[in-house]
Amino acid sequence: MKLKTIHDVKNLKGLGVLVRVDLNVPVHQGKVLDTTRMDRIVPTVDFLVQAGARVILLSHFGRPKGQVVPNLSLRQILPALKNALGHPVQFVPDCVGEEALKVAQSLEPGSILLLENVRFHEGEEKNDLQFAEQLAGLGALYVNDGFAVSHRAHSSTQGITNFLPSVAGLLMAAEIEALSKTLTHPAPPVVAFLSGSKVSTKLSILNNLVLKVDSLVLAGGIATTFLYAKGIPVGKSLCEKNQIKEAQGILKSAEKNNCRIILPQDVMVVPEIKEGALPTCVPVDQIPEDQTAVDIGPKTIKALSEILKKAKTLVWNGPLGVFEIPPFDQGTREVAKTVATQTQSGSLFSVAGGGETVAALTQMGLAKDLSYVSTAGGAFLEWVEGKTLPGIAALVS
Ligand code: ADP
Ligand code: MG
Repeated sequence: MKLKTIHDVKNLKGLGVLVRVDLNVPVHQGKVLDTTRMDRIVPTVDFLVQAGARVILLSHFGRPKGQVVPNLSLRQILPALKNALGHPVQFVPDCVGEEALKVAQSLEPGSILLLENVRFHEGEEKNDLQFAEQLAGLGALYVNDGFAVSHRAHSSTQGITNFLPSVAGLLMAAEIEALSKTLTHPAPPVVAFLSGSKVSTKLSILNNLVLKVDSLVLAGGIATTFLYAKGIPVGKSLCEKNQIKEAQGILKSAEKNNCRIILPQDVMVVPEIKEGALPTCVPVDQIPEDQTAVDIGPKTIKALSEILKKAKTLVWNGPLGVFEIPPFDQGTREVAKTVATQTQSGSLFSVAGGGETVAALTQMGLAKDLSYVSTAGGAFLEWVEGKTLPGIAALVS
């Protein structure tokens, strides 16, 4: 699989380039709270600007469901975007139609235009080909730099590739390269951490991981469901009793594929998940009937550190405990510190992704110390599931 990128395009000067980016940034009362997604498209935009392309940015924002929803206008992020890109940015209050076409066509080489929220049109999420063709008509080349949205077959991520030569942007290329290093061509031993709240949302991931990794560490509500499936009582802990068969199937498949499943040895328990509850440590097979597990215990933290010291590759999804309520963030924090140290010393290639996982690592100030933290939530998870993402399929030859 060879990914075509903007580096492979010869003559960008004066070319109208439609760039699908993910500017779905968190906004509160008109203020952009986190500019990560903007910051990460800078390399692509800079490259195109330097090459003298006419840069036309396409993005969605929120879920307007095909309607014009004024408070989901991309106009509100314009000042933050100009700031992040370090260039002036023009804006048109629609992504297709006369005005968009006129401004796009008269754009000076090396300048940037942001079009209004693509999801203001019904055609976007329906992957309507007519709408895709209208978008395509605004430029001569399509660049996808929105890995985070490429698991969706929408007009601006997939349909449009039917009408224009299509290549990946630099963020997209970096995401794919980092992800391929963890599951497509990883250095062994390969370890995966899979945690979070529900087995049911992560079944395909679990099924794919047992085929790919040497050790699979389970924690959180995933671990308690697996413990229950093995006949170990888990008290009031999060446990999806209707997923027992699935969990047992995954255990069997792991055995067949030489994947070591690692469950916590000890857990921190509380009578109720709430702030101020004091956790106590119990061996994992002694969770009291009236208590709920909220974090991994110190023995497990130590065991995971040992595993990390021997591992060469780590893929991590899911906080190891209820990190939102300290001190139940202890396990996630201690293990993340080891991941950071091992990565920084050059002995581990580490990739993490998932909404809450990234939030936890960022909050702990450790995201920057991993090899790669995926900006993508759903797309990262589908990639770990082993799926071909529709927005990427058109970019490879
Ligand atoms: P991600 O968004 O990174 O894929 P998930 O959404 O699957 O992760 O899971 C994250 C959630 O899992 C967090 O909100 C965290 O509080 C919760 N969680 C972790 N461990 C436990 C546990 N032992 N009991 C209940 N919830 C847990
Ligand atoms: Mg989540």
